[in-house]
Amino acid sequence: MGIAAKRRDSALSYTMIDRRRFNQLLAVLTAGASFGQVHRALAAAPARPLIMLDAGHGGVDPGAIGVVGTYEKNIALPTVLELARQLEATRRFRITLTRRDDVFIPLEGRVARARAANADLFLSIHADALPSRAERGASVYTLSEKASDRLAAAMAASENSADRFAGIKLSHDPVVNGILFDLARRQTSNLSIRLAGDVVNHLRQHVVMLPNSHRAANFVVLKAPDIPSALVEIGCLSNRTEERDLRRPSYRTEIARALTRSINQYFDTIT
Ligand SMILES: [Zn+2]
Repeated sequence: MGIAAKRRDSALSYTMIDRRRFNQLLAVLTAGASFGQVHRALAAAPARPLIMLDAGHGGVDPGAIGVVGTYEKNIALPTVLELARQLEATRRFRITLTRRDDVFIPLEGRVARARAANADLFLSIHADALPSRAERGASVYTLSEKASDRLAAAMAASENSADRFAGIKLSHDPVVNGILFDLARRQTSNLSIRLAGDVVNHLRQHVVMLPNSHRAANFVVLKAPDIPSALVEIGCLSNRTEERDLRRPSYRTEIARALTRSINQYFDTIT
């Protein structure tokens, strides 16, 4: 992949609330709400969380190509469809997909869809190709801290960064907006790290993992500043054994099972 990766410490020592409640709270506070209004907003039963699943690549973009010619796009899509099926079966979530077919969607378009849908979670599914054919294993990425900082600064500075952010009507005061951006961005980053930790913990019980399984990178699809996001490389197509595994529906079902458990655990611990 040619990118600098570093281990992330997923041990978080403070309490987190889920994204929807956090945004509700920000919205009522910035509107100058009374304590009663804040209390009612927090007490309201939230809708089922909306999860946007993203099958990497598609259409003219095959993604990585395996030793015997397997296209990454053709591994990512059935994995996402199986994951969607399993998540829907829990009746706990609403599921939406960036693509259901072999179509090309630009990276920014995937993030835009997640934000337009007001998704509570964004999970992108890929398969890796590494320079060494001996290497195999899954890994999980969240947005690097530096990229996240730069993004927040750029969005806060931008005049046309949409009139709403994290579901909140923006203030005319750039200082207030800067604080809102920073709060939401930090919350998103913490939740993304929590999600990645849950994914690693469950995946490693089912499949081989790369060393330093949780990595940070500057992936475009992880750049929604207000939606907790992670990208899962479910294995290496550059490794002959893993390519064969990834082609097997039963293997992908197992991965989907681990991801379903991770997402369940994530929502168990943040709400
Ligand atoms: Zn990919």
